[in-house]
Amino acid sequence: MPNTIPQALKLTDESTAELFETYKYLHANPELSMQEHQTADYLAKRLNDLGLEVARCGGTGVVGVLRNGAGPVVGMRADTDGLPVLEDTGLDYASSAVGNLDDGTEVPTMHACGHDTHMATTLKTAELYAGAKDAWAGTLVFVLQPGEEIGAGANAMVEDGLWDKAPKPEIMYGQHVMPGLAGTVTLMSGAAMSTADSFRVTVYGKGSHGSMPEHSIDPIVLGASMVMRLQTIVSRQVAPQSAAVVTIGSFHAGLKENIISDRAVFTLNVRTFEPEVRDVVLSSIRRIISAEAQASGAPEPLIEDLSHFPPLYNDPHETAQLAEQFRLEFGNEQVLPGSQLMGSEDFGALGAAIGVPSVYWFFGGNDAETLQAGAPPANHSPFFAPVMDPSLPTGVRAAVRALYSKVGKK
Ligand code: ZN
Ligand code: ZN
Repeated sequence: MPNTIPQALKLTDESTAELFETYKYLHANPELSMQEHQTADYLAKRLNDLGLEVARCGGTGVVGVLRNGAGPVVGMRADTDGLPVLEDTGLDYASSAVGNLDDGTEVPTMHACGHDTHMATTLKTAELYAGAKDAWAGTLVFVLQPGEEIGAGANAMVEDGLWDKAPKPEIMYGQHVMPGLAGTVTLMSGAAMSTADSFRVTVYGKGSHGSMPEHSIDPIVLGASMVMRLQTIVSRQVAPQSAAVVTIGSFHAGLKENIISDRAVFTLNVRTFEPEVRDVVLSSIRRIISAEAQASGAPEPLIEDLSHFPPLYNDPHETAQLAEQFRLEFGNEQVLPGSQLMGSEDFGALGAAIGVPSVYWFFGGNDAETLQAGAPPANHSPFFAPVMDPSLPTGVRAAVRALYSKVGKK
């Protein structure tokens, strides 16, 4: 395998400047999950202009196929959605966009997770390959996936026939910008990010006047008891060697201090790595919620699924090969070992749907001064602002290198 990337697949000053302009445009124009209509139009046009075969998929998803003769088929994914966050970075290309939540509420919208960096670097990667057809052979599949933040987009694309609309790759690559030194990439082998399951629980009680508790089934007392007992799952049901998180992120009940409400609603978020641990945690949740309701003489609570993120598993063999490629590209010091993240990602669903390996890596978004000053704003913060240089060129070089390690060489 050649250790050098052909000149035609490398960024120039001019193409780097264009990369930054694309990024600024995308940053200023975020859209909420599964509502990325203008973003999808923009991406489809850009890919179409480059000569790729472009198809819409899964609502606001876009897939671009770059064919260049016989050879391996390789996939690269970027996610496209923004978040309901009011941007406070003070950047001159900051977002002032708004979006609407499912219930119609208007909310400020920001690319607070850096998915704009993923789109910009992927477009530039596609452009470099489209302009360098003498240098490689095969087919590249660029998957621009909506709705990552709600764990909906990868499945939406798969269910809409992604792998019928586009040729099936032998491997899927993906990347994400994270707090860390810009210019570095971070790779972790095996189970890299957790499975996430979210639920909404409606606890039914019996309403009454606050002065007559004997006529009520108080859903706040009952719900509080559920919350406390649910917090024993990780400490008492999961082995200390295994990792799990149970978070109750919202709890709503009642309208007035002297009215006992007839219901309480809370939401739960669960993170696990091992399927066996996930089974234990999820079944314990159902058992505790049901048993606590019984203990209070309350009706059976309603448990609704909100979202599910699959595990993110980096194929160990492929990850080791890619780490070696990254060391050639960036130097040993710039390639960092990762540790397991309790965060979640639906990227894994794309490769899993066709039984091919996936590798997902992170690239740093901060300059040294910001890091020295303390913890930089993390993804989802209103202050999240990756430095363009060298963060974005690093994302392009990583993607170009990953794809080049698989395609045919000319
Ligand atoms: Zn995010
Ligand atoms: Zn993200």
